[in-house]
Amino acid sequence: GLQTAIFTALLSQMEKNELKKFKKTLSGASKIGIVTHFNPDGDALGSSLALVHLLKKLGKNARVVVPNPYPDFLQWLPGTGSMTIFSEEEKKARTWLTSCDLLFALDFNALKRLDKLGEIISACTAPKVLIDHHQQPEDFAAWSWHNAEATSTCELVFDFMTDTGTEKLLDKKIAACLYTGLMTDTGSFRYPAVNAKTHRILAALLETGIRPAEIHSAVYDNYSYDRLKLVGYALSEKLRIVDGFPAAYFLLSEKELARFNYRRGDTEGLVNYPFAIRGIQVCALFNEAQDHIKVSLRSKGKLDVNKLARKWFDGGGHVNAAGGRSRLSLAETEKRFIEAIKSLF
Ligand code: 5GP
Ligand code: MN
Repeated sequence: GLQTAIFTALLSQMEKNELKKFKKTLSGASKIGIVTHFNPDGDALGSSLALVHLLKKLGKNARVVVPNPYPDFLQWLPGTGSMTIFSEEEKKARTWLTSCDLLFALDFNALKRLDKLGEIISACTAPKVLIDHHQQPEDFAAWSWHNAEATSTCELVFDFMTDTGTEKLLDKKIAACLYTGLMTDTGSFRYPAVNAKTHRILAALLETGIRPAEIHSAVYDNYSYDRLKLVGYALSEKLRIVDGFPAAYFLLSEKELARFNYRRGDTEGLVNYPFAIRGIQVCALFNEAQDHIKVSLRSKGKLDVNKLARKWFDGGGHVNAAGGRSRLSLAETEKRFIEAIKSLF
């Protein structure tokens, strides 16, 4: 009725005012930091680098700071060489970030996801802008482009460009970065969050002249011999199914990973393979590291692994893709997972 219409109009007026205030802050800022999550993936790096290129085109002194190193298959992304890796240059990163006028937080919902870098960001007085698609974001940002239904943070960076009237600055470099994050966070455009809007964004990106086949190849046809052998070993020797439930999982010990000269990113994507088995609805991967086990969870449909990760593995993420950690042994972690699956169904 009329009340709803007035309310909606008021709301959109408020949004316009907020956007105006944001644009003013952005145009007044000269030094801008961009941070993204620990173990940055294609969407984290793609969105952060796209934004840094955009901000530089706006004349800003902008820089991406990542908590720790990124995998080899993302090295080719334009701009990786100008990033600061916090774990390698703590002092430089700290000095830079604490003197920024504005900070962007990309592809994470909780400062904890930055590891030690989170404490620094939390202490920074500069206003923060969140661009993210994870559920239940913490309340640390003055402005946010947040949508848990969006395919990727890259999609939201595209929205950010539209909202701020900077979409005409889209170029090949920015498009290549955004395409990469959209591709890696959607399983190459096949997950349920993909819709007509996603494809309209992709079309705009392709119109800049980027070559999608080359990007796909740079990211996915980049395994080492060891990496492919590790995947083969995991599939033939380590794949287990929870008895009586549509859930499959891998447990990989530190020793097994070392046997295949494990490098960061080598098990990226492995967690999804068991979905190829008819009926499987939940997949998990447990990677043993020095002092904890890294947990990766995936699901189909309404089965919520975000909740599962929060409740059982000190983590979180999205409904269909989440992660966390375990401080128990591999055997104890396996027991805990089976228990979690039984309670989920
Ligand atoms: P992955 O299994 O690829 O490491 O992570 C899958 C998803 O879960 C990603 O979207 C990632 O952001 C999220 N995620 C992974 N680990 C954690 C964690 O420890 N805490 C939270 N809150 N999210 C996580
Ligand atoms: Mn993402």
